Amino acid sequence: MVKEYINNPKIGLYPISFSPCFFASLPPYGIMQDVYDKYELIVGLEVHAQLLTQSKAYSADSAEYGGNPNTHTSPTSLGLPGALPVMNEKTLEYAILLGLALKCDIRYENQFARKNYFYADLPKGYQITQDKTPICNNGYVIIKDDNGKDKKIELERIHVEEDAGKSMHDQDPYDTLIDLNRAGVPLVEIVSKPDIRTSKEAYNYLTEIRKIVRHLEICDGNMEEGSLRCDANISVRLKGATTYGKRVEVKNMNSMRHVQKAIEHEMKRQIDCVERGETIVQETRNFDAATGTTSAMRSKESAHDYRYFPEPDLPPIFITQEKIAEIKSTMPPLPDELFRKYTQELKLPEYDAYILTDNKYEALYFEEIIQHTTNVKAASNWMMVHIKSYLNENGLDIKRFEVKPTTIADMIALIDSGKVSSSAAQQIFVEIVKNPTADPLTIAQQLNLIQESDSSAIEPLVDEVLAKFPAKVMEYKEGKKGLLGMFMGEVMKASGGKADPKVATEILKKKLDV
Ligand code: MN
Repeated sequence: MVKEYINNPKIGLYPISFSPCFFASLPPYGIMQDVYDKYELIVGLEVHAQLLTQSKAYSADSAEYGGNPNTHTSPTSLGLPGALPVMNEKTLEYAILLGLALKCDIRYENQFARKNYFYADLPKGYQITQDKTPICNNGYVIIKDDNGKDKKIELERIHVEEDAGKSMHDQDPYDTLIDLNRAGVPLVEIVSKPDIRTSKEAYNYLTEIRKIVRHLEICDGNMEEGSLRCDANISVRLKGATTYGKRVEVKNMNSMRHVQKAIEHEMKRQIDCVERGETIVQETRNFDAATGTTSAMRSKESAHDYRYFPEPDLPPIFITQEKIAEIKSTMPPLPDELFRKYTQELKLPEYDAYILTDNKYEALYFEEIIQHTTNVKAASNWMMVHIKSYLNENGLDIKRFEVKPTTIADMIALIDSGKVSSSAAQQIFVEIVKNPTADPLTIAQQLNLIQESDSSAIEPLVDEVLAKFPAKVMEYKEGKKGLLGMFMGEVMKASGGKADPKVATEILKKKLDV
């Protein structure tokens, strides 16, 4: 039995506008750089990634982005009484694929939980998520630190959940409009350990996560459209301290630059706060992109505020070893594996490897070329210079690039064998992209680009040139070695530009240096 009492609406409300750190969001005065240097930044990121499934996480509604408002709905995503969720298997497969790519442990028994909260775009009044049994634990992401060295950022967990609908506050002068197309779209939430120490590391971590989800094709990674969103847990502590300071959560940032800026701003704000002898309030803050600052949104809720409990409408789901093995067998080569292969096995510069692994299909294209040539540096140059600029200029995706990787390998072979010069190969490339099935050698012949590398054909030309300039030959023999270039020019002219410069130089030197 409880006594009747009058509900006081003020109970539990937190007077945000007078939070002790309110004034700290004003520009600090008089705090010198060496004061900032005493502190260490601690950041953990929570990344929500929308999965590219066809239907929603717990219903058969379309999960496609866009569509007329409230058309991708059903009793389940509208939260109507009696509607029951059904697990979309693809959601779990994608989460497992990601977990395997990030070297996580995959959980055998998966339970789902209700996370209860009220929001207008959450008609059920709860989100179906995973609480005590995330599908993935542990695992890590390798990023570059501020000095360009590899750094391991460990993961706490990855769990599966559903997105909420979208509230639009700017479409109508009086009302907030609600679109529930997004309600129930599957998400994975990737939670890192607080291993991130600088805003640059946070940026690099997000870049890496985006690269991986795109590579696996489980999320389009488009931050502007909200398919990848980031919350940052930020705190500061004196260097050398072993306990963490009070942390502040900055919510729902949809650009990597914003995440970086929010972290920089928070670090400064929190240090100023501590330096003034004030305590940092654990709260949730908003990032304002226009000013580059954060502001208090609400006092930080803790897990128990959500009254998690097991979802009674979804039975636990068991993931077998066979299923995991099956998913593993579909795993494409990962960017970091390819990066290692390119730098360590193929001895390509890190810069090349970075560019080549940036896009999955470009990496696969490159992989195809190097099946057919041993000159991997030439293959890398063709990718990075000619192919990429052609794609950029024409706004094309490599998937729609019709020239076969074997054709590129053929062109490399033509250059390496001395049949065409590299500038001639570029002319051939211009023709090939117009006519992707053509043979490079045939084009070279048609355009009269075949180099003369037969020394018996070049030798008479060299003799002719040397006979024409006896005085210059004397000067050369007396030490004016720079004249070689002039002789070369004459030989090339005599050959109509078709002599292989390498062979011509050799013959010239042989004849002049006796
Ligand atoms: Mn979440």
